Amino acid sequence: MNAPLPRFSEDAREQSLTTHSYYLATAPAAGPWPTLQGAVQADVCVVGGGFAGLSSAIELAQKGFSVVVLEAEQVGWGASGRNGGQAIVGHASDAPFESQLGDADARTAWSVTVEGLQLIRERIAHFNIDCDFVPGYKYLAVNERKAHALYEWYEHVTSFYKHPYWSWIGRKDIGAHIASPRFHSGLHDTLSGHLHPLKYCRGLARAADSLGVKIFENSRVTAVERGDRPVVKTASGQVQARFVVLAGNCYLGGLVPELQSRIMPVGTYVVASEPLQPDVADSLIRERAAVCDSNFVLDYFRVSPDHRVLFGGRVSYSGMTPPNLRAGLKRRMLKTFPQLGEAVKVDYAWGGFVDISMNRAPDFGRLAPNIYYLQGFSGHGLSLTGVAGRLVAEAIAGQAGRFDIYARLRHRPFPGGNLLRTPALVLGMAWYRLRDML
Ligand SMILES: Cc1cc2nc3c(=O)[nH]c(=O)nc-3n(C[C@H](O)[C@H](O)[C@H](O)COP(=O)(O)OP(=O)(O)OC[C@H]3O[C@@H](n4cnc5c(N)ncnc54)[C@H](O)[C@@H]3O)c2cc1C
Repeated sequence: MNAPLPRFSEDAREQSLTTHSYYLATAPAAGPWPTLQGAVQADVCVVGGGFAGLSSAIELAQKGFSVVVLEAEQVGWGASGRNGGQAIVGHASDAPFESQLGDADARTAWSVTVEGLQLIRERIAHFNIDCDFVPGYKYLAVNERKAHALYEWYEHVTSFYKHPYWSWIGRKDIGAHIASPRFHSGLHDTLSGHLHPLKYCRGLARAADSLGVKIFENSRVTAVERGDRPVVKTASGQVQARFVVLAGNCYLGGLVPELQSRIMPVGTYVVASEPLQPDVADSLIRERAAVCDSNFVLDYFRVSPDHRVLFGGRVSYSGMTPPNLRAGLKRRMLKTFPQLGEAVKVDYAWGGFVDISMNRAPDFGRLAPNIYYLQGFSGHGLSLTGVAGRLVAEAIAGQAGRFDIYARLRHRPFPGGNLLRTPALVLGMAWYRLRDML
């Protein structure tokens, strides 16, 4: 039995989480692109119009392939149009690369993530994508125990990966970096940064379009027939292609059950405050960098160009929006920045699902020699999706070396099958949340 697709309920309040985001209110429109009608031929059919699918399409088109993108809703409808906007180096977990693949491949994979940040900068410049990119990221510990673990990670990355972009913020300097009582110390990263994800995603779609990629919206794929030339079907048409790239995040559901069992859809949420006075907004985080805490169930936040605090956190494993979402996230925002005061208003609240893999490492591979997939970004996909598209295009063009480093990583299905994996994960996460509090 297949688990139902993760969707917010039809309840009007929860529906608003998918339609009333700060991003939707502030991103210029793109498209609309038509619905697929009839039969189409292409070299490559990409399923999913988020960062991963659009990036694959751009890279493939740049290599001379004819490409069709099929998007069930609209471009950027999924996680790519709703996320915290934090473009961060590394993977959600780098440990599996080191333990499973060895030093050389782990270093190559890290360098891929560095390239991911460079690729964002290149694409913004090359395709003239106006998406409010701001360099700078702070990864901060909330207590001494967390600071100790983070410092070990900082030393490991700077020595093992020879990563030159990080500097350590000691306890006595933390106040100069963030006007918050919550943090002990942490690291500052000049390579990572933040952007408006929906502006960026729509910019990628325009870029793909300009390269000749055929984008179809409101075109949900209902079947993928395998073979020498796979056929990808929607309600009103079909694409026959030499290759297929599946980039549907956790929304692919029963279309490919063998992939679904290896990722868990986990809800995460963001609020946007009302615009603050510019000097107040400037005083919160030095250089308006992005910030994450190093807790397992983390808070992530930043300041927008129109002086709002965009504050993300909380999680849901059931697919149901947590009760009192706005109030709960506002409480966390005020715990971080109490100087904003109770009177500060929350103008927007929204959320989406991240595709968590068991070991938190990305899950890339092939279902057949001509059917590729990209999933399991585990909440760390803003930057990695872009370069993942490049790796898939390299592999399809016959240079699979870097893609296969990722494809060699072993992934296990979540225990308990589709019915019991959620309770199992809730129990596991409760344990980690308890550890965060200690
Ligand atoms: C609230 C939130 C905050 C986040 N914050 C961050 C962050 O700050 N930094 C970070 O690095 N990552 C963050 N993430 C994760 C990041 O957004 C994702 O890793 C990334 O966007 C995944 O991109 P994607 O293209 O794989 O998936 P998506 O953007 O979800 O795109 C998949 C697309 O495929 C389409 N699709 C699915 N099935 C079908 C089908 N059968 N037929 C046709 N189309 C289909 C969907 O409609 C969807 O548009 C966050 C995610 C969320 C939800």
